Amino acid sequence: MKTVTLIPGDGTGPELTAAMRRVVEASGVRIEWDVVEAGEAVMAKHGTPLPKYVLDSIARTKVAVKGPITTPIGSGFRSVNVALRKEFDLYANLRPCLWMEGVKTPIPNIDLVVVRENTEDLYAGVEHMVGKDAAESIKIITRQGSERIAHFAFEYAATHARRKVTIVHKANIMKCTDGLFLNVSREVAKNYPQIECEDRIVDNMTMQLVQKPELYDVLLCPNLYGDILSDLCAGLIGGLGVAPGANYGKDIAIFEAIHGSAPRYKGMNKVNPTAVILSAALMLEHIHEGQAADRVTKAVRRVIRERKRVTYDLGGTAGTSEYADEIIRVMTQT
Ligand code: NAD
Repeated sequence: MKTVTLIPGDGTGPELTAAMRRVVEASGVRIEWDVVEAGEAVMAKHGTPLPKYVLDSIARTKVAVKGPITTPIGSGFRSVNVALRKEFDLYANLRPCLWMEGVKTPIPNIDLVVVRENTEDLYAGVEHMVGKDAAESIKIITRQGSERIAHFAFEYAATHARRKVTIVHKANIMKCTDGLFLNVSREVAKNYPQIECEDRIVDNMTMQLVQKPELYDVLLCPNLYGDILSDLCAGLIGGLGVAPGANYGKDIAIFEAIHGSAPRYKGMNKVNPTAVILSAALMLEHIHEGQAADRVTKAVRRVIRERKRVTYDLGGTAGTSEYADEIIRVMTQT
């Protein structure tokens, strides 16, 4: 039996991860969950939102599923999500955005994968006030950081039958930082002659994704552009409720939905657990439980296609737990 760390998170995190856990268990796979709490709720007791026992658990199990965790805006503690990525050097953030039949969107059949560098860029958090009335943030891009994320993107494309990688940048303005990212990515592309490689300036990319998303396949992005574009791509396939994600390092991986803790829906049994469930399916693939991953993914797709019991964001009236019940019913009766 495989042990997997489970961080329920806060806001809607606990109800979403509870639904995920029931679905994964119904897939037949045997997982022992090491449940560890992080975030604001543990601050008072442990003096930090990310206590050592959380880090110890992940270091031990090497794989975690994480619910969203609220980050205070402007002041307060730094993002637990960013801290985890840094602590374990989870440099690659994978966000597959695949349209599912039954989801009403302006353009069907979207199939995009955002590969986001996860440790550098403006997200490095190197910022400070300059006096009272100015602030500075430093954008960090390195050859090593760019090289490994480019390798990840092209390797992913090569092993998942994808045809093209588009490098996203703003190298016309940020000639040093984005210029380095672009040049290094182009160098890495030469190792993958079977994969088409092109690049787009991020503003143009944004418009193109809205107008002609079918032209794109895998998007290779520095941290900030990847963050923004992956929400856009999630919007294209029906919203944050259906978009899964994964963070990979050398030997540790943490799986989590793209979305945040949606705190205004906390405790209402309302939000869509699909993104967390599909993130768990990525986790199952990662631990070589491909059949269970397949069972979960197929059941989710069928429930969404049938539209009988789906959550509000997909036009239904089912709550989080009733929707999970329906996935379990489909999975166990077929
Ligand atoms: P959010 O993703 O929590 O919510 C934005 C809106 O998207 C919600 O109001 C809701 O309408 C919709 N939405 C989100 N998840 C949904 C779901 N599962 N089903 C249906 N609709 C859903 O973004 P926010 O309000 O900007 O952030 C809230 C908090 O979450 C912030 O503190 C932020 O820092 C944090 N956050 C955490 C993570 C993470 O844990 N990885 C990621 C992003 C944001």
